[in-house]
This record gives sequence, C-alpha cells and structure tokens, in this order.
Amino acid sequence: MNTEILDGKKIAQLTEAQLRNRVEVLKSRNDGRPPILATLLVGADPASATYVRMKQNACHRIGMQSIAVEMPSETSTEQVLSKIHELNNNSHCHGILLQHPVPKHIDERACFDAIDVSKDVDGVTCLGFGRMAMSEEAYGSATPQGIMRLINAYDVPLEGKHAVVVGRSPILGKPMAMMLLNANATVTICHSRTQHLAEIIRSADVLVGAVGRPEFIRAEWIADKAVVIDAGFHPGGRGDIELAPLIGRASALTPVPGGVGPMTINTLILQTVVAAEKRLGDVP
Ligand code: NAP
Repeated sequence: MNTEILDGKKIAQLTEAQLRNRVEVLKSRNDGRPPILATLLVGADPASATYVRMKQNACHRIGMQSIAVEMPSETSTEQVLSKIHELNNNSHCHGILLQHPVPKHIDERACFDAIDVSKDVDGVTCLGFGRMAMSEEAYGSATPQGIMRLINAYDVPLEGKHAVVVGRSPILGKPMAMMLLNANATVTICHSRTQHLAEIIRSADVLVGAVGRPEFIRAEWIADKAVVIDAGFHPGGRGDIELAPLIGRASALTPVPGGVGPMTINTLILQTVVAAEKRLGDVP
C-alpha cells in the first residue's frame, strides 16, 4: 500500500510563514515590540544546549525575540524558582521554556509548576495538563500537541480508532494519551511494566512510540495499515520504532528525522505567538 509520509518539516515551514505575518501584526500593534520567549537552560548538557539553540533560532526566523537565560549545573532549586518568578513578572516576556531535563538535584516538577500558566507555552505545568485533560483552554505539552497538529494536518481519522501510546512520561506519553482520548480515540497506554506489549501494539490502529530506546518497537509487532507516529530521536537519525520495513505496509508514518521533531519546536513558537495575541486581547 502507499504509505503517506507525515512530513513535520513541511507543516512546520508552512506554519512559520503564517507566524511571520502574525508577528508583524503584533509588532505593529505593540509599539514595534515582538513576542518574546524566555529559554532557561540549567547545566551543561550538550544535547539540551542544542535544543535550546534550535528553539531560539526558530523564534528569530519568525521575527520573535528570545531571552536566553543560562544557569550553571550547581544552581539550586530556589535559584531556578527565583528566575522563573522574575520572568513571570516580566511583562515583555510572553512564554517561558525550562529545558528538560534539569540537573538531578533540582526539583524539576516544582520549577515547572512555578511557571505562570499564561506563559506555560511548552505545556509542562500540572495546571495546564489538568485543564488540557478536561478539554479546557490550555497550552498542550509541545511534543504531543505537535503530533496532534501533524495528525490533523493530514486528516488522519482518530474517532473510534484504537490508539496505543508506548510511554507515559509527563511531557509526552501521558498528555499524548489525553489528547487522543479527547479526539475520541480509544486509548491504551503502555509502559515498562506492561505485559504482552507486542500483542497490544499489534491491535493498534494508531501507534505512538515514546519510549526513549532506539528502534525498540519492532516493525513486525505493528499491524498492516496502522498509522505510526515515532516521537523518538537518537544519534544516527533513528527513532523509537523500526520504521524502514513499514514503508509500503503502514498507512501513514512520521519520518525520523523530519516528522515529530520539527513539530515540537513549531508548536512552542506557535503557542508563544498565541500567548502574545492573548495579552493584546486578540484571542478571547
Ligand atoms: P522518558 O521520560 O524516558 O519516558 C520513557 C517512557 O517509556 C516511560 O514511560 C517508560 O516507562 C517507557 N518505557 C521504557 N522502557 C519500556 C519498555 N521496555 N516497554 C514499554 N515502555 C517502556 O522519555 P520521554 O521524555 O517521554 O521521551 C520519549 C522519546 O521521545 C525519546 O526517544 C525522546 O528522545 C523523544 N522525545 C522527542 C521530542 C521531540 O521533540 N521530538 C521531545 C521529547 C522527547 P515507565 O514509566 O514505566 O518507566
């Protein structure tokens, strides 16, 4: 069968073109001031530094600005909290990104939850998660929200389908499952203690792999005609799912790279633009 490639890079580029216009409008209505995303990087993890740089670059591509805050590895939870409070109170800052993961001695949950929900454009607070789960207004966690946007851009049907999410992390698997449930899929969440994983995966119409282990989900576990979403990204350009044998067998799949990754960053900047529009009263 013809496998549709869910091209996140293309959808992200199309959205960027629209966002550039929205930023211009915002600037013209706000004394030339663009929306601003604050990025908060704690520690010296090179991968995290790269992700933050990519997010800042995306801001600049659409005419937004970023405030880059970098704190050393030995920073305390209190110092991170204090910086977040400062950014919450900065009226020029519309969104706050605390790059995950922070060094182990820092209470990441407390820091996430200190972000004002109106600036939680990465969708990491408990309050934002709860609101999203209840279908109330909230910024969705950027990766699963990006996946939903990609699925919708290609009109992939979800209603009544069996969606299997492998992974239950607070930033990915859990919010993903809630978003799919809200879209009327029937959702199964799998994790490291799940029994008969291959069997459950075989029953998926829509599969989301968010495990964090390269090609852990084998192609042979996946039914023909499934929609396959791979959130993983590992050195060498591999995801969490063995994708190559699925070309011609899956009905649709996200490539790695170029599928979910670009949509994550794109969702972060989109949600920051929406936050700036809300501040100006453009969005109810
Ligand atoms: P995580 O916090 O490490 O969570 C991994 C999840 O996988 C956990 O819920 C874990 O279960 C589950 N798991 C581990 N081993 C398993 C097994 N043998 N069988 C079934 N489930 C298993 O990872 P994450 O932050 O959610 O990230 C997941 C993947 O997405 C990674 O590859 C990461 O690189 C990628 N990612 C991509 C983006 C992007 O922008 N593209 C953003 C974030 C993450 P337990 O809960 O039981 O431990």
